[in-house]
Amino acid sequence: MRSESRADLARQLGDRVRFDVPIGPLTTYRVGGSAAAFVTVESRAELDRVTTVCGALDAATLVIGRGSNMLVADEGFDGVALQLGDFATFVELPDRRDSDPIVRVGAAASLPILARRTAGAGWRGLEWAVGVPGSVGGAVRMNAGGHGSDMAASLVDALVVDLTTGAARVWTRDELGLRFRGSDLDDRCLVVEVRLRVVPGDAHEAQRVIDDIVKWRRENQPGGQNAGSVFVNPIPGELSAGELIDRAGLRGFRIGSAEVSTKHANFIQADEGGRASDVMSVMRHVHDRVLTESGHDLRSEVRLVGFA
Ligand SMILES: Cc1cc2nc3c(=O)[nH]c(=O)nc-3n(C[C@H](O)[C@H](O)[C@H](O)COP(=O)(O)OP(=O)(O)OC[C@H]3O[C@@H](n4cnc5c(N)ncnc54)[C@H](O)[C@@H]3O)c2cc1C
Repeated sequence: MRSESRADLARQLGDRVRFDVPIGPLTTYRVGGSAAAFVTVESRAELDRVTTVCGALDAATLVIGRGSNMLVADEGFDGVALQLGDFATFVELPDRRDSDPIVRVGAAASLPILARRTAGAGWRGLEWAVGVPGSVGGAVRMNAGGHGSDMAASLVDALVVDLTTGAARVWTRDELGLRFRGSDLDDRCLVVEVRLRVVPGDAHEAQRVIDDIVKWRRENQPGGQNAGSVFVNPIPGELSAGELIDRAGLRGFRIGSAEVSTKHANFIQADEGGRASDVMSVMRHVHDRVLTESGHDLRSEVRLVGFA
């Protein structure tokens, strides 16, 4: 980032902005470098101020949620990284008498907490989210999902701020262009809050579903440093990336500090103190081998930050 841009940021945001902040540790891979500048946004008013400043700068922006779908290059990110603070973690449940019950939730709220809060109050439809360790904002951008559902199934609309102009607008579900593990949101867009439709039901039944999902995750997915599924399933519901990687015999394949999980072939595990470049090398190798052996050109589901 140009030194003039750093000076502008420091002048206009004071101690709200920090420089050369390690952001790799903010991701579930826990590898990778620093952001040239980093701001935790603590209120809507502050968001307006930050977007005005960022909009006038000649610098890239990056929104970081809970970093559970992100690989940051060892060289880091040469721009302004933003993260929403506690003001955006609220979960507002509907009233029992509502004929069309809607949950209002901040974009920084965690999906497992959202799932447990709604299920505990007898609202159904978001149980799947208990197994996805991301934020609501990241889940909208990725159209996260699992266990037969996804964000698109419940989403009514999202309040989105354009980081280049500061303009805030409510995008309807259709405008968001949600598709399998993707949306029409790009790096200029910051989701601030979301409305989700739920249905009334039995809290005990919802809890049973949650318990089953947690058990299934423990049995079928590895813990440790990863970002969940690395590649998008080429034919959702029919052909999984994991199956293709398995057929190519790549379970356990290792380069340096990263390896294809032995428990789930579409997960790549990073070692403690590992390197993002090793994770990337494993991804490239897997991609190329699967392309040669099956003809499927796998696409990364993980957001790659700072790579050429
Ligand atoms: C163990 C494990 C299991 C997982 N299982 C699943 C699964 O079953 N299904 C699934 O879909 N995913 C899964 N994931 C991936 C991940 O949890 C989801 O994609 C999640 O929605 C990402 O949210 P996040 O806040 O962590 O986003 P980040 O990783 O922080 O960011 C991902 C993308 O979203 C953008 N973003 C983040 N917050 C915002 C915001 N407020 N506004 C606009 N853009 C934003 C970022 O800029 C980036 O482009 C798994 C990950 C792990 C580690």
